[in-house]
Amino acid sequence: MSGANAIREERLWQRHIDMARLGGTPKGGVNRQALSAEDAAARNLLAAWARARGFSIFTDAIGNLFVRREGSDAKALPVMSGSHMDSQPTGGRFDGMYGVLAAFEALEALEDAGVTTKRPVVAVAWTNEEGSRFQPGAMGSAVFAGHNRLDEMLAVKDWDGVVLKDALATTLKAAPAPLREGKPGFALDGYVEAHIEQGPRLENERKTIGVVTGIQGSRRYIVTTEGEEAHAGTTPRAARKDAFAAAMRIAAAMYEATNDEGDTLRFTIGRVDVQPGSPNTVPGKTSFTIDMRHPSNDVLEAHEKTLHEIVASRAAPCSAGIERVTNVAPTDFDPRVIDLVRTKANDLKLSNMDMPSGAGHDAMHIARLCPSGMIFVPCERGVSHNEAENATPSDLAAGARVLVEVLEALANR
Ligand SMILES: [Zn+2]
Repeated sequence: MSGANAIREERLWQRHIDMARLGGTPKGGVNRQALSAEDAAARNLLAAWARARGFSIFTDAIGNLFVRREGSDAKALPVMSGSHMDSQPTGGRFDGMYGVLAAFEALEALEDAGVTTKRPVVAVAWTNEEGSRFQPGAMGSAVFAGHNRLDEMLAVKDWDGVVLKDALATTLKAAPAPLREGKPGFALDGYVEAHIEQGPRLENERKTIGVVTGIQGSRRYIVTTEGEEAHAGTTPRAARKDAFAAAMRIAAAMYEATNDEGDTLRFTIGRVDVQPGSPNTVPGKTSFTIDMRHPSNDVLEAHEKTLHEIVASRAAPCSAGIERVTNVAPTDFDPRVIDLVRTKANDLKLSNMDMPSGAGHDAMHIARLCPSGMIFVPCERGVSHNEAENATPSDLAAGARVLVEVLEALANR
């Protein structure tokens, strides 16, 4: 029997149901924020399933939880798969959790099929991917990959002032696992993350498997305009320095400039602040955010240049400035892993398409460490970060079948 044949759809689905009870909301979603009591309960449940199958578990200094199935070569570097078990405050049952449970299902399928791999295969649940309680998100994988410093992350506070270090200690006390000493992070031979798409493309194109080619980069800016406050009733047009009018001109020109034919660039103005915020005073100052995302760094770079040109040419008679607050480079996944995902999907006669990921994932950090890739499965109407998030048992199982075949191939390299 092959690993793919040993994937059991009902078992995988039932595990989602069991996990969804931990932090389950009346509307059918979950509220299982990082390092909460619900997070601890999810860790305990995964650990219990792992022990029942004879897999070993361990954790690291940032609380990432690992489940390990041994290979035949004790010295060989492991291959890894997983995602996260924390959720948004009004999150769904599948975001992150699917990647953890698909990885665990893959381990079980290898076990049930009696497959021996050369390399160990490790399932992982990364700490705090969502970043809704503690910022930044994708924290566990970022620390593992050396992108963020452990001591800085342990000092982060949530909105109530709770220090992450204390929340982590409480969580690990409630959900104990053997601690791997030293700094988080160890060498890997490969990493593959399964995830629901969180967008509508697979469903619209009637494909079961998304062969993820990379994760788009994102840049965030704050644009400010400054004019002069004046009386709304008495000030003639020529005498006005209306900061909001300047912001509007800049915004309109940017919407126009980012209207790309292929609909790939994502451009969002999500927050506007107008000062002094009085109905009968000409605004003297505004600030607004711009969030831009695209798989190509060159495209992002070009649009940043356009933004500077537009701000310089459209602000008059006001003055304007741009502050870039984040710049996350796009991730290109390893061509060999991408090929492997596509080949295995084709072998299993599963319809598939290549696509970049619009959202960030833990894989973006791990891709800096070892050859990495991702597998997407459809979610209903593309809805995610929402309690209504949904996926079908058969699509989830299809993704797990591709995953186990890819992991087996990587683990025998
Ligand atoms: Zn996720």
